[in-house]
Amino acid sequence: MRVLLAAAVLFLAAPGQAATERVGSLDGIAIIDRLDAADIAPGTTERFWFRAGSSALAQPWLVPVIVVKGAKPGPRLLITAGIHGDELNGIDVIHRLASIEPATLAGTLVMVPGLNTPGLLQSTREWTPDFSRASPNLNRVMPGKEGGRGIDDYSGRLWFRLLRPNADQAIDLHTQSRGTAYPMYAFASTPRTRAMAELVAPDIIKLDPGEKGTVENELTNDGVPAITLELGRPEMFDTQMVGRGVAGIVNLMREMAMLSGPVVPKSAITFTGNKQEVVRAPRSGWAVLAVALNTDVAKGDEIAVLSDAFGRVTDRIAAPVAGRISTIATDPRRDRGDMLVRIITNSDDPKCAMGC
Ligand SMILES: [Zn+2]
Repeated sequence: MRVLLAAAVLFLAAPGQAATERVGSLDGIAIIDRLDAADIAPGTTERFWFRAGSSALAQPWLVPVIVVKGAKPGPRLLITAGIHGDELNGIDVIHRLASIEPATLAGTLVMVPGLNTPGLLQSTREWTPDFSRASPNLNRVMPGKEGGRGIDDYSGRLWFRLLRPNADQAIDLHTQSRGTAYPMYAFASTPRTRAMAELVAPDIIKLDPGEKGTVENELTNDGVPAITLELGRPEMFDTQMVGRGVAGIVNLMREMAMLSGPVVPKSAITFTGNKQEVVRAPRSGWAVLAVALNTDVAKGDEIAVLSDAFGRVTDRIAAPVAGRISTIATDPRRDRGDMLVRIITNSDDPKCAMGC
């Protein structure tokens, strides 16, 4: 009996090891080394600085975290933004969702308005801890490795101490990178993530097998359905796009029974495709696009005119396929091979059923 009791105590103690670890505070905000949203009192909103590692100056990289803990039980929705440091709209989306009244919420919103602290400081897509290192993509190295070097430790701490233990479903918010633009655009890789994408009512859904090391795919493959939601252009808070992001996430939360209210299962505006064509500049020069985002093109339509440094036309570029314009270059300076536009299409090849 004593042995059994000891085993029971050990079992009960195990969850305690994963409890929120408070290690200090900064201007009244607790600094934590680990989050367990179960520790937060129901009906409250708490803010934290998560310590995601330290810089070469032995100062912590701090990542902001907001937990809105509903008065009623329910699922945990993880919402992240700013893993690419020039992609900002999602940060404003989270700031707005943070005002959800916990009394009206069932479940928990765990939100990270800025995953890539060094990249945000430099307004760059990459993780840029200091001048001397390569600048890797933080959204290709998940789940990382705690105790590893640089980005491996940073991503590993995020993954194992903050993101993965606090998510039942997840949305990772992005925009296009500097010099390019998306409409409101979601990636999905499974039936549930497709349904999630439809609920947030983007202009375009790309069914996509995904890429290794992304927050979306590593969570989905680990049993936490997750989508990447792209909200337009980088380096700005676009009020209209942010508003659509908030409205879409509220609709998803209603479907998850986290908030009350009517659910719109799928918007008529959403175009879903399973294949993508990238149209690239055949030589370096100045590009003038002949098409707008989120419009349809027929095969052979002129989509861009390329000129040399003197404004002399060098190339007229035609759409290689019919489809919907899903990405455009907004910076007219194009090196040979740079993307001009992407076109989303639909293939009836069975292997493309969930994206190819
Ligand atoms: Zn991104």
